[in-house]
Amino acid sequence: MKHRVIYLLGPERIELREEPVPAPGEGELLVRVRAATTCGTDVKVFRRGGHPRMLRVPTPFGHEFAGSVETLGAGVGGYEPGDRVVVANSAPCGHCPYCEAGRENLCRDLEYLNGAFAEYIRIPRRFVEASTHRLDPDLPYEVAALVEPLACVVHGIDACGLGDGAEVLVYGAGPIGLLLTAALAAQGHRVVAADPNPKRLGVARTLGAQDTVEVARGGGEAERLRPHSRDGDGFDCAIDATGVPAVWQDAVACVRPGGVVNLFGGCAPGTTLPLDTASVHYNELTVMGAYHHRPATVSRAVEMLTRKVLDPRPLLSAEVPLQDLEKALRSMMAKEALKVVVRP
Ligand SMILES: [Zn+2]
Ligand SMILES: [Zn+2]
Repeated sequence: MKHRVIYLLGPERIELREEPVPAPGEGELLVRVRAATTCGTDVKVFRRGGHPRMLRVPTPFGHEFAGSVETLGAGVGGYEPGDRVVVANSAPCGHCPYCEAGRENLCRDLEYLNGAFAEYIRIPRRFVEASTHRLDPDLPYEVAALVEPLACVVHGIDACGLGDGAEVLVYGAGPIGLLLTAALAAQGHRVVAADPNPKRLGVARTLGAQDTVEVARGGGEAERLRPHSRDGDGFDCAIDATGVPAVWQDAVACVRPGGVVNLFGGCAPGTTLPLDTASVHYNELTVMGAYHHRPATVSRAVEMLTRKVLDPRPLLSAEVPLQDLEKALRSMMAKEALKVVVRP
């Protein structure tokens, strides 16, 4: 039996191929993809034709999906054909110093899973053991596919160590900025969202932002943003969700003394950031990075979506069949779509 798989071949080059449906090996599962979602990382990877950590071309493409178990490899217990599951896109080794410290996202041997834009996907043993979660019957597949980005967002928010009712600037209202907004608002924080796109700011308000600011693209907006904090002295925390170095600089300039800056969006390789040393020193700023997710935050993301702590459906702009993936990616590049559901 054959199925269709989308391959990434290089910068802005994808191809729909027909291949034999893989057979699950020992300890593995074969999952039928019921819904995959496009992600800002997919757009970045599509543009650049690769990712330093996640994949090397030519490769099956896509990493956010949910589906149903089709067949089980030898020795797999606890699953039956038809079980509804979501699988996170990475699996840690479980025994390096980072894994032992609960920082599995930094695992020296973190494996990544790609190939969500396909009819079927083989789930390697490590992912079956560490990264597969069963889904409640009433959790729609396209919502469950958002477990991965939500797990990243939960990890990023954890890292900030916010007090109760903190005031947080979320810079960037793309899919990740909007999920950050929804998750922070659900935790009772006051969110101010900044983005050049008024439509996206409207979605931010729907998802719980209390204030929104339309900013110019490319940063240089700190002076306009700081007055939107309650007392005008800056935000308790600023989170970048743009991956633009000039915006990282704005984020640093937008927090109050003692504030936390979370540089969440991944910038282009080789870029650097000038820091106002006096401000970091005298204002005791905490400037941090956050990357990816951990098994604990994946579990929490599954639980949040199951318990409907937040409703991420305003992020799903459209639905397309597999063959229209390129159109979906281009509509994201044009900032028309936020996320697109791909139904193989
Ligand atoms: Zn993603
Ligand atoms: Zn490890």
